[in-house]
Amino acid sequence: MQLFDRLDRIPPLSEEERQLLDSVRALARDEIAPRAEHYDRTAEFPWDNIRAINALGLNAMFVPEVYGGAGLSYAAYLACVREISAACAATGIIWATNFHAMKPLIDFGTEAQKRALLPRVAEGALAALAITEPAAGSDATHMTTRFAPDGDDVVIAGNKTFITNGDVADLILLFGKWSEIADDRKAISAIVVEKGTPGLAVLRKEDKMGHRASSTVALAFDGCRVPRANLLGGPGAGLPLLLASLNKSRPSVAAHALGIARAAFEDAVAYINERRQSGRRIVEFQGIQFLIADLATDLAMCEAWLWHVAGLVERGETDFGPEASMLKMRASDLAMRAATDAVQLFGGYGYCKDYRVERLMRDAKITQIWEGTNQIHRQVIGRSFIAKR
Ligand SMILES: Cc1cc2nc3c(=O)[nH]c(=O)nc-3n(C[C@H](O)[C@H](O)[C@H](O)COP(=O)(O)OP(=O)(O)OC[C@H]3O[C@@H](n4cnc5c(N)ncnc54)[C@H](O)[C@@H]3O)c2cc1C
Repeated sequence: MQLFDRLDRIPPLSEEERQLLDSVRALARDEIAPRAEHYDRTAEFPWDNIRAINALGLNAMFVPEVYGGAGLSYAAYLACVREISAACAATGIIWATNFHAMKPLIDFGTEAQKRALLPRVAEGALAALAITEPAAGSDATHMTTRFAPDGDDVVIAGNKTFITNGDVADLILLFGKWSEIADDRKAISAIVVEKGTPGLAVLRKEDKMGHRASSTVALAFDGCRVPRANLLGGPGAGLPLLLASLNKSRPSVAAHALGIARAAFEDAVAYINERRQSGRRIVEFQGIQFLIADLATDLAMCEAWLWHVAGLVERGETDFGPEASMLKMRASDLAMRAATDAVQLFGGYGYCKDYRVERLMRDAKITQIWEGTNQIHRQVIGRSFIAKR
C-alpha cells in the first residue's frame, strides 16, 4: 500500500527514531500481535508485553535525557503508539497511559519532582491518570475528591472510577479539589500518589466489551497521606494543567485509534482480495470498491491530520484545542467505522472470533468515549467559533 507508506514518511523522524520504530514494528508483529487473542479471551494483564516494551526501553522515549530518558520526538512516540495498538489495542493503551499520566509532570513538575520521579518512569514504571469519578465524567469540574493540607502532607479522600492501569500503576497522577479553595474550577489540583500508599485501595475491576487485557478499576482514597512536595503546580493549578495536558494526550489516543483503524483496513483489503463469490474476487465488485475507497480516503486524511497536529506540539504551540479535538473525534469515529466495515466485508466469518476484526470492532468502541466523548469534542470544536464580544 504505497499510499500509506508515503503518508508514514510525513513525520521527519531521525535515523535513530526510524530504527527504533522498526524494532517496535518487529516486536508488535512477532510478539504482541500473536498474544492479542489470548489476552482478549482471558482478560489477563499482558505482563510479558510490558516486559518486552520495557526491554526496548520505550518509556524512555518521552522522558527528557537529563532525567534518564531518550528525549525522542513526539511524532516518533505517536508512530510507536499506533504500531503497538494495531497489534494489541489493550497493550497500546496501557503503554500510552504512562505518557498521558506523566507528561504533565514533565511539563509542569518542579526540578525536584522530575529528578525524583522521571528516572523511574524512563526505566519502565507504569502510571495512571485519575480524573473520572462516579458522578463526574464528561464534566470533570464536578469532581469531589478532596485534598486537605496538613503540615507537610496532603490528606486525600475520595473515589475515582474507570482508571486505566489503576491497580498496577507505580505512580498515579490524581486530580482533586483543594479543600481551602471554594471555587469549583479554581480548586482543582493535581498530585502524584505512589503505589502502596496506605488508604489507597482498588474497589473493583471492570469486565469490559473490549480492551479486555488493560485493567480499568475503581479506586478509593481513604485518608491517604501524601507529601505536599508531590503536588503539581501548587494548590488550584490543576485545571489549566489538565487542559494543556489533554492537548497532548488526545493526539496519542487518536494514534491509538488509528492503529485499530489501520489493522481493520489492512485485514479487510487482504480478505476481499482472497474471498471469491459468483466466480470473482469480491474486491472486483464495485459496491465493495466504493466502501473501501471511502475508508482509504478518510484514513489518509486523518493520518495526515495526525502529523499536522504532531507538528503543532513539536513547535511548542499551546492553543490548539480544537485541532486536537478534531483529531481525536475523527480518528475514533473512523476506528469504529473501519472495524464495523471490516466485519461486514468478512461476512459471517467476521462475526466469529477466528478473525481479529471481531476483536477490533469491540476494541474500537471505547475510543469514541474516553479522553472526552465525541459529543464533548464536537462542543469544543463548535464553541471555538463563538465570536468573542
Ligand atoms: C475502558 C475505560 C477506560 C478509561 N480510562 C480512564 C482513565 O484512565 N482515567 C480517567 O480519569 N478516566 C478514564 N475513563 C473514563 C472516561 O474518560 C469517561 O467514561 C468519559 O469521560 C465519559 O464519562 P462518563 O462515562 O461519566 O459519561 P457521562 O459524562 O455520564 O456521559 C454520558 C453520555 O452523555 C453525553 N454527554 C455528557 N455531557 C454532555 C454534554 N454536555 N453535551 C452532550 N452530551 C453530553 C456523553 O457524551 C455520553 O454519551 C475510562 C473509561 C473507560 C470505559
